[in-house]
Amino acid sequence: MGMKNKMTVADVDIKGKRVIARVDFNVPLDENGNITDDKRIRAALPTIRHIIGQGACLILVSHLGRPKEGPDPKYSMKPAAERLSELLGKEVKLAADVIGEDAKAKAAALKEGEVLMLENVRFHKEETKNDPAFAKELASMADIYVNDAFGTAHRAHASTAGIAEYLPAVSGFLIKKELDVMGKALDDPERPFVAILGGAKVSDKIGVIESLLDKVDTLIIGGSMAYTFFAGKGYSVGTSKYEADKVDLASNLLAKAEKKGVRLLLPVDNVVGKEFDPDTESQVVDSDNIPEGWMGLDIGPKTVELFSEAVKGAKTVVWNGPVGVFEFERFAVGTRNIAEALSAASAVTIVGGGDSAAAIEQMGFSDKITHISTGGGASLEFLEGKELPGIAVLNDRK
Ligand code: AMP
Repeated sequence: MGMKNKMTVADVDIKGKRVIARVDFNVPLDENGNITDDKRIRAALPTIRHIIGQGACLILVSHLGRPKEGPDPKYSMKPAAERLSELLGKEVKLAADVIGEDAKAKAAALKEGEVLMLENVRFHKEETKNDPAFAKELASMADIYVNDAFGTAHRAHASTAGIAEYLPAVSGFLIKKELDVMGKALDDPERPFVAILGGAKVSDKIGVIESLLDKVDTLIIGGSMAYTFFAGKGYSVGTSKYEADKVDLASNLLAKAEKKGVRLLLPVDNVVGKEFDPDTESQVVDSDNIPEGWMGLDIGPKTVELFSEAVKGAKTVVWNGPVGVFEFERFAVGTRNIAEALSAASAVTIVGGGDSAAAIEQMGFSDKITHISTGGGASLEFLEGKELPGIAVLNDRK
């Protein structure tokens, strides 16, 4: 695929140039507008420091949240610009708009090594529509485009893809790292290669399951997805959340795994509850013995052991999606144990963003994981073997 040989910001001479960099500063804010987790800003620091260190003028563009109709102070980039300024120990200017007079005047006035943050790019509906005129306006402020927003690389928006029509386009170091680590796992993994997929819907993950069946030695399935597979095996699943219209598909995937010689592991026991409720009555039952009126909410202890054993013997592990309703404390045990198994493994361990990344971080295991992807959706699409629009548009190395 054409994603590996992309030029990076280290391959271009940017001294004295105006660089517009798309970053993912979509940070969580509390009700007072304070940033509760700045890891996305930190993740972009190597690229930002490189650009200003080379004596370029840096214009940053990002989205934050989902503003509905035009500018909304609730979704201002101000807190992100301030935090970045603290982390860099230097001023970060903030434009009052995105492609308006203030942004353009401030961009034009930038001196070497200075940083300007544009306002939330989603204040314009043209952004998500990948409107060419809007992309061109963004591009007009700069000489070079750098994409370092892995979290939005699977979206073809104006600031993630369209803009590359008008400027030389290269990747930042975060995107490079994401592609290097995950690309190696997919193309040339140390074996055994074990993938763990959890979460809610088989329909969301068919592509990933199919693509991973060609690559892994063991595929582990947990979460409510597992119940669709159980139904495919003819087990009764009680009131478990499963997709009735995906049962045949799940059976086909089981058959495919067998044909390819991939070990496919499903839960052998489950914590089931009466209701979808954090305080519901619960019990542990085997997978072929889920009683009428009960729903699976987590993997059981025998399953934790089975899955952990598989992780222990692995040389490469990829994990995406919780194996239970981890938002409910009592049903987060399975997911926590998987997080723990990964952190203890002597393997290359890759966690694909979203809920699984949150579980790892909550438990303080981040340092023990080789790579925690900064993009949930983007990492899933990458694992599926899809071309990510925000990466496809970048210039190839000569
Ligand atoms: P996804 O976005 O597909 O990764 O799904 C994540 C969601 O799956 C989380 O909100 C979990 O609560 C949910 N989930 C995992 N296991 C179960 C289960 N057994 N029953 C219902 N929801 C589940």
